[in-house]
Amino acid sequence: MSALDGIARFPLLEGTTPVQRLSRLEARAGDLLGGARLYAKRDDLMGLGGGGNKLRKLEYLLADAQARGCDTFITTGGLQSNHARQSAAAAARAGLACELMLADVVPRHDAAYRGNGNLLLDDLFGATVHRLPVGADPLAAAQARAQELAAEGRRPYVVGNGGSSPLGCLGYARCAAEILQQEEEAGLRFEAIVVANGSSGTHAGLAAGLAAAGDDPARVLSFTVLAPLDEALAETRRLAAAALQLLAPDRCLGADDIRVDGSQRGEAYGAPTAAMVDALRLLARTEGLLLDPVYSGKAFAGLLDRAKSGGWRDKAVLFVMTGGTPGLFAYPDALSGN
Ligand SMILES: *Cc1c(COP(=O)(O)O)cnc(C)c1O
Repeated sequence: MSALDGIARFPLLEGTTPVQRLSRLEARAGDLLGGARLYAKRDDLMGLGGGGNKLRKLEYLLADAQARGCDTFITTGGLQSNHARQSAAAAARAGLACELMLADVVPRHDAAYRGNGNLLLDDLFGATVHRLPVGADPLAAAQARAQELAAEGRRPYVVGNGGSSPLGCLGYARCAAEILQQEEEAGLRFEAIVVANGSSGTHAGLAAGLAAAGDDPARVLSFTVLAPLDEALAETRRLAAAALQLLAPDRCLGADDIRVDGSQRGEAYGAPTAAMVDALRLLARTEGLLLDPVYSGKAFAGLLDRAKSGGWRDKAVLFVMTGGTPGLFAYPDALSGN
């Protein structure tokens, strides 16, 4: 039916993730929402390896690795990378070895950041973890490691930060198709689809999926937590165009189709902000749901900030919950207390 159905996928999700209305948050904090009706796409709710948005990309990446006869999955990230942890779990499930090239990009030196959270799980899933020195180029290190392994007769498969290759982005094009279906079933249309932007593949895939379906890619609004705004915009545009090329080569994106907001990044990637902590507590205390301190907490803070002006009054807005809860255990100092 759609071009996506013709592309090989190694299944890691159980099926469609639910969309839920955040009615308790609306009742408790309606003033903060400016009258918006708020829904969550529960992409934190997946059975494998603690779940999260990278599993959708890994479905396509692992199928590609298997089709190429590869036996070792190599990828990159920061020390507390959710992508690295989900790659380790997914590779275990697919029967591939996994090597993680982890960059020391966040200046946090406590034991929790350097040993707990995602890092603890990387070890449990049996991945080989390479902790790179400050300033190292993780993708170059991954490629060098791949050459070493190839010289030993192994078949490595390399993908960079966040699994955000054009093929990996298709995981979120598939998510966009799910959202369109869920809108139809519920008889509603989201004014905005809000998500965090790290390596840009999630936003790019959602936008490409909407565009391929003839829907409006500008409904997606992301908050960059990693690159500065201009870089995040350029990378999201590049990846969305490349993903759309795989799905519907006759279509293209307009100049205003990719919307990224730079207001929530704070000092740096992985540096907590007060708005992130407030947003995380608000959702935890009204709905019992967990955001993460690096990505979705900052994006949800951005959603709240936009909503309060009233621009989404009586409109339905969808927040894509992308997982990352193991990261909470790497930030006890920022999150404990009140
Ligand atoms: C990686 C990640 C994101 C961002 O996805 P990208 O495709 O890298 O932009 C958002 N939330 C969480 C929890 C993540 O781990």
